[in-house]
Amino acid sequence: MGSSLLPTYARADLAFERGEGAWLISTKGERFLDFGAGIAVASLGHANPALVEALTRQAQKLWHTSNLFEIPEAERLAKRLTEVTFADLVFFTNSGAEAVEGALKTARKFQSASGHPEKFEIITCEGAFHGRTLATIAAGGNPKYLEGFGPKLEGFVQIPLNDIEALKAAVGPHTGAILVEPIQGEGGIRMATREFLETMRQLCDEHGLLLIFDEVQTGVGRVGTLFSYEHYGVVPDIMAIAKGLGGGFPLGAFLTTRDAGKGMQVGTHGTTYGGNPLATTVGMAVLDIVLGPGFLDHVKAMGLLLKQRLAELQDAHPDVIADVRGLGLMLGLALHGPVANFVAAARQEKILVIPAADNVARLLPPLIITEDEIAEAIRRLDATCLRLEAEMGLAQKRAAL
Ligand SMILES: *Cc1c(COP(=O)(O)O)cnc(C)c1O
Repeated sequence: MGSSLLPTYARADLAFERGEGAWLISTKGERFLDFGAGIAVASLGHANPALVEALTRQAQKLWHTSNLFEIPEAERLAKRLTEVTFADLVFFTNSGAEAVEGALKTARKFQSASGHPEKFEIITCEGAFHGRTLATIAAGGNPKYLEGFGPKLEGFVQIPLNDIEALKAAVGPHTGAILVEPIQGEGGIRMATREFLETMRQLCDEHGLLLIFDEVQTGVGRVGTLFSYEHYGVVPDIMAIAKGLGGGFPLGAFLTTRDAGKGMQVGTHGTTYGGNPLATTVGMAVLDIVLGPGFLDHVKAMGLLLKQRLAELQDAHPDVIADVRGLGLMLGLALHGPVANFVAAARQEKILVIPAADNVARLLPPLIITEDEIAEAIRRLDATCLRLEAEMGLAQKRAAL
């Protein structure tokens, strides 16, 4: 019998029944090392006891009341987020796309509240991914995602990543903001240069524009700092976050300075689910761990170790791996052959990695990954490369015949 799910995904023929830390156990009882973490979401591992405890404790008390009432759990999490970031104010969402969407609305509203409704244009980067709503596909600019969905939402101007001259040239009388992922995730672990982001900050300051960082994938400890803007030393005015924030419970947010958020007053924006007691209780438990003693140091150390071991893997398999890139535990292997083949071969070696554009396989393990698990991952990725080399050898022989 066919699936009743709308067929928008080419799913692997594999389902999971439960998880433990960095491991997933399939419905057939096979154990997989999870270096995808549900696309950088299950950052504290599967069935993390502290998160299970927070979730079940809150589930027995109260799930949802709506934003018509005060939500102490949301207040606490928002307060914590403002204490540890540049931001003064937080709006909770259920997903990354909604967080980016809210960030875009906040920027446009800022300009109109400042007497500049004509400054509605937002500069974005080629190869970006900002979500799948009508506004965020326009922001991302990927023709595959825009095709067939009617007129593209107006007001987005795209420039090549790290092209400083194009960036300067793109600023005009209608520009109101710049939106950028400091490290592109779906785009293939492509890092913005420090100079590129610094130039963005300068242009924003000079022209009264807002700088929006999409840290949906890079945020909440993934790169070894709480947010990647700290690594770069470039501070945005507005930031969208999600993925790691709920550790698997759907939770996102956009954060803003008081000034950049000044247009967002009563009635300008809303959400039914966003920031409900259940979601924000889990988010608080996630932050407590990520901000706990030594956690980010662990991410940095494991990130360095993994990157070093991957560089060795590249040396051993130069016909498979072209490049190792990324920061912290957001790493990518640029491949010579099709990324789909690599991901499938890895799956046969019982390690899960995630495809991205630019022919890159992403490695996004849970941040709680251990040295032993990294060693095991390298063994499995080594076996993956050997498997692909054997296939290539076979193909070469076939071609020679
Ligand atoms: C995943 C992602 C999004 C979209 O998040 P959803 O929860 O899928 O809506 C937006 N921006 C970036 C950088 C992402 O990685």
